[in-house]
Amino acid sequence: MKEHKNILKDTHGRAHSYLRISLTERCNLRCSYCMPAEGVQLSPKGHLMSYEEIYEIAKTFVEHGVTKIRLTGGEPLVRKDISVILEKLASLSVELSITTNAVNVDRHIDTLKTNGIKTINVSLDSLNAEKFKHITRRDYFEKVYNNILLLNSEGFKVKVNVVLMKDFNDNEIIDFINLTKTLPLTIRFIEFMPFDGNKWDMAKMVSYKSIMETVYNAFPEDQVHRLQDAPNDTSKNYRIKGFQGSFAIISSVTNPFCDSCNRLRLTANGQLKNCLFSSTESDLLTSLRQGKSIEPIIQKAVLGKFKIRGSMNTLKKLQDPKLHSNNRSMISIGG
Ligand code: SF4
Repeated sequence: MKEHKNILKDTHGRAHSYLRISLTERCNLRCSYCMPAEGVQLSPKGHLMSYEEIYEIAKTFVEHGVTKIRLTGGEPLVRKDISVILEKLASLSVELSITTNAVNVDRHIDTLKTNGIKTINVSLDSLNAEKFKHITRRDYFEKVYNNILLLNSEGFKVKVNVVLMKDFNDNEIIDFINLTKTLPLTIRFIEFMPFDGNKWDMAKMVSYKSIMETVYNAFPEDQVHRLQDAPNDTSKNYRIKGFQGSFAIISSVTNPFCDSCNRLRLTANGQLKNCLFSSTESDLLTSLRQGKSIEPIIQKAVLGKFKIRGSMNTLKKLQDPKLHSNNRSMISIGG
């Protein structure tokens, strides 16, 4: 690690050790809260990072202190050179993980294992095949569910990301938690967040508070154990007494966790986002291709990071469409 300057520390004292890399803007699902109905304008192929460029940029971040890299998309496993990308990144001294919709993860089990991936986050918003089809606009529920069981049986640590929406899947909270009775999964309930084109509405959001009310209506309070959250954790973790797995809540809307944020994001077209909600981006790819150092750009981006949610530090600001839609759609950020 280069000692001379910590370009990953922001003006709020947060050291950024976690880089999320979006490998593609493409996906084999069409989730309504992520992908605008009309789809997204894909970047021209030449504007997307090659596997060599992904490796070069990641290597620079690791040299400056990044210890964890998560691969996201779109759907990262739709990239044809995914095994080369995994192999290259696995050569770095970094904890590698991936977020996938698991539609085709069964084809990549060996590659994922060979390249040291131990934790896999899978997006699944309903345990009902019809609802799954409605939200993803694809009929892959059985495949995804069986692949979650397969990943678990193959020894991966599986976290299931569930974006909750009122009057859609908020009546499945207990069904998801009951999965953890016999399966060592971590179910992560995510408050619905505003991004370009996802028709977000505060009224559709299921809050941390109301999720816990549902939990305490179903389980005696002394059976609901609050677990120790990991440093920089985005989620608040719980376990029902005697259950194999756990559940967690990611409350970016009602209870943001920006104080301990250690995350930076790299988009598939080589832009650095210093925050999930930042409306500004810094172009790393052009400088890399011109053979220029990307370190000054990274440092400037990190020093420009707002304390909370890309400057939307109040719920009122977050609810302001002029502010929150001034960002990409989730499909091209990668969560
Ligand atoms: S909203 Fe931005 S600052 Fe807050 S935790 Fe997420 S990425 Fe970090």
